[in-house]
Amino acid sequence: MKQEEQHNLAQPVWSREQELLALYEIGKAVNSTLDLDKVLNIIISETIGLFQADAGSIMLLNADNELTIKAAQGLTDDIVKNTRVRPGEGIAGWVAETGQILLLDGRVSDPRFRNLVDRKEDIPSSLCVPLKRKDKIIGVLMIRRTGEVRFSDHHSRLISLIAEQVAITIENAALFEQEKRRTEELQELNRAVKLEKSKMETILTSMADGVVVTSVSGEISMINRAGCKMLDIPEAEAIGKHFDRICAGKQIFDNIRESVCRRKVRYKTDFSRESPGGEIFLHLVATALSESVPGNEGIVIVIQNITEMKKIDRMKSEFVSMVSHELRTPLTAIMGFAELMISREFNAERRHRYLEIIMQDSSRLMRLINNLLDLSKLEAGQITFNFEPVNITEMIPGLIESFESQKAGHELTYGIDGEIPEMMLDRDMFLNIMVNLVSNAIKYSPDGGNINILLHRNSEAVVVSVSDQGIGIAQEKIPLVFDKFYRVDSALNRETGGTGLGLATVKYIVEGFGGKIWVESELGKGSRFIFTLPLEA
Ligand code: ADP
Repeated sequence: MKQEEQHNLAQPVWSREQELLALYEIGKAVNSTLDLDKVLNIIISETIGLFQADAGSIMLLNADNELTIKAAQGLTDDIVKNTRVRPGEGIAGWVAETGQILLLDGRVSDPRFRNLVDRKEDIPSSLCVPLKRKDKIIGVLMIRRTGEVRFSDHHSRLISLIAEQVAITIENAALFEQEKRRTEELQELNRAVKLEKSKMETILTSMADGVVVTSVSGEISMINRAGCKMLDIPEAEAIGKHFDRICAGKQIFDNIRESVCRRKVRYKTDFSRESPGGEIFLHLVATALSESVPGNEGIVIVIQNITEMKKIDRMKSEFVSMVSHELRTPLTAIMGFAELMISREFNAERRHRYLEIIMQDSSRLMRLINNLLDLSKLEAGQITFNFEPVNITEMIPGLIESFESQKAGHELTYGIDGEIPEMMLDRDMFLNIMVNLVSNAIKYSPDGGNINILLHRNSEAVVVSVSDQGIGIAQEKIPLVFDKFYRVDSALNRETGGTGLGLATVKYIVEGFGGKIWVESELGKGSRFIFTLPLEA
């Protein structure tokens, strides 16, 4: 090619000062942002301006080792989007492969570049320079120009300076991106840790069990809400204190440390503390926090409130001894009188008397066994109610009659207030309620008195009440009388038989009918048990 001629056509060379100014401008633009896309666009635009080029692009090698256009000016969108060049292909590919600057000055005569990717026609003047990072080619910078003025070697020198700048920029941007990604990852990790922590805190707060975390020497580093409640200490006061100091004055921690830290086994114990509402029983299990995570040494102490369990346990054993007593007393009488009658002859009157005792005690036994069976079946959901239309008004006189033999100075009356409709009830279950309430009224009125059954209808329900003039119930005991096995501790109760199951059974049945039961009572004056049978049921 006629090199001399082309040089003549090249634009006048820049002075050193102009070059420095141009580089300074590009450097300034480059430093204005760290966003790689923006920087590359600024570089291409500045370079085109400086070189008075028509078009230019920066192509970078992607992960598939293809050159794609990252920033361009003067090229169609289609070319920018779709150009994919492998090293070795076309001008850019050749530069990327060889690492040499290519100055195409004039019409393309080199057969290597005949099949250019982005242009079918000849390129009057084009400069393509490799972008290198530590001797590795990462892309190419390309500009081209039409018209008569051509690029020269002088331009090649300046553009290679710009290319160095671009490579540094890319390096910086890559480092920045890496740093940004790492920061984002760290932030993400931080968020995840925070989320885990708040989840953990929610779990710990909502747990019914108390959780206390201590150092191996016993200083408390964490305590949850339930723990504060059980040990009756505000969280702020507990943190930093030694575990024994918040543990109702018990010396427990030495044993915990001995088991957990030295013998590497769990430590379990029960202890109690006084509280305004009575004695509280607590069960404690201590384990090592984590032996596998260094710096995470400590002890987790989980505390459960077992007061209720203890109470039920005590009630159960009381119940067992009471039931055996209850069963043995009538049985002893039954066996005694039966034996007596077998071994000796008695006149008709005495025989009748003894048989009556046998009958009475057998029915007492029967009642007790029935109560036990009824309640356990009700609780197990094994009893299904046989609902049928029942006229309860008609049942009352017969009920009163059946208590004839049990009365001792008692007067049984009934009253009906309003029109009592037929209701869908289980007849036997309704009788069970009434028998329990009336026999209690008799049992707990040792001095006799009036026992009145009242049926009353209001807009929503039929209200049935059984009132007596007996010993009454102390206010603080009222909420307990419907509990299973509960019996008010009184001299009378110790004398009279009972299981504490009657009212629990009654409550189950009333609730099964959709109603409610409660009691109004005054100590020494009498009690009134009231239950509702909803009309809608
Ligand atoms: P029990 O077999 O002891 O009678 P209940 O469940 O029927 O069991 O009653 C529980 C407790 O409630 C009784 O032990 C008694 O102390 C009290 N109680 C029940 N009915 C009356 C009443 N009409 N008057 C006074 N106390 C009563």
